[in-house]
Amino acid sequence: MGEPTEDFASPIKQVGLIGLGIMGLPMARNLVKAGFDVTVYSRTQAKVAALEKEGARGASGPAELASRCQMVITMVPDSSDVESVAEGKGGIFEGAKPGLIIADMSTISPLTTRRLSAAAAERRFLWLDAPVSGGQAGAIAGTMTIMVGGERAAFERAQPVFAAMGQRITYMGASGQGQTAKLCNQILVAVNLLAVSEALVFGAKAGLDLDSLLDALTAGAANSWALDNLGRKMLKRDFAPAFMVRLQQKDLRLVGEAARELQVPVIGAGLVHQLLTSLEAAGRGDDGTQALVNVLESLAGVEVTGKGSKQ
Ligand code: NAP
Repeated sequence: MGEPTEDFASPIKQVGLIGLGIMGLPMARNLVKAGFDVTVYSRTQAKVAALEKEGARGASGPAELASRCQMVITMVPDSSDVESVAEGKGGIFEGAKPGLIIADMSTISPLTTRRLSAAAAERRFLWLDAPVSGGQAGAIAGTMTIMVGGERAAFERAQPVFAAMGQRITYMGASGQGQTAKLCNQILVAVNLLAVSEALVFGAKAGLDLDSLLDALTAGAANSWALDNLGRKMLKRDFAPAFMVRLQQKDLRLVGEAARELQVPVIGAGLVHQLLTSLEAAGRGDDGTQALVNVLESLAGVEVTGKGSKQ
């Protein structure tokens, strides 16, 4: 990689964010609040206009956005979306100046990440993979966990920008290792979700009061983020998305691909992937992942209900 022309000693001020979805929108808000000069782009103009009212600037596309920034964040669904936003016509690579840091915070393939990182380096841009955990609530609160792969010098320069959006920011190593860490996270998230669904269906069929059950279990060794957050939503019959079934399926597909390459059986994650397929088949890909409980409910012939509120 060539020497970046950016002065690496001066702190980053101009930050761009592409993809104002469930996660990208609150992330952009936190960057504005932290005092960065923020430019945003999303294909849906209304989302850009909303952010403009809050102090960000809108751009007409990724190339124009990149031309104004020292660091660009992408927060779009899948590998192909990141590829088109970065290398496609009117993409980041067209408008960027050498030295630009591109931090892809979406969850995508580690393989695609390494290819994009090499393509960026040829143009003297620096690519970081920086996927996140903590869900929509973590994005709003600015408490996300961020797992970063890529060149350490770029990571260190980007650190204050990450700190405006996250709490635990961990350097994982070379390009792609942030995404690999995120896939470990997704195995845990998926299998936890299955455990929560199975326990609540079991308790419901046995006639337990599920609010009492949740109060007891969240105070003991069985507690988890999934139980305390998604378990409560299941009881309230709230299946609105904070994390959509179709995105979890995308992540489990990435887990499966990486696992085949590594020759690691991923039995629990594979099972959840199959069960969630039945929700997609029912046209519920845009529901929240907590809808997994509905699949187990129909197998057991029972419904999980309660108030779902914290005591
Ligand atoms: P989302 O609500 O679907 O947001 C993604 C945004 O990207 C959309 O609002 C869309 O906005 C834009 N977009 C989609 N395709 C695009 C394309 N081809 N080119 C340009 N822009 C495109 O999804 P999200 O939940 O925010 O997730 C974003 C990423 O974060 C995913 O990789 C997901 O796996 C990851 N993630 C999500 C969560 C979560 O809890 N939701 C947690 C951790 C990680 P426009 O249509 O306006 O362009």
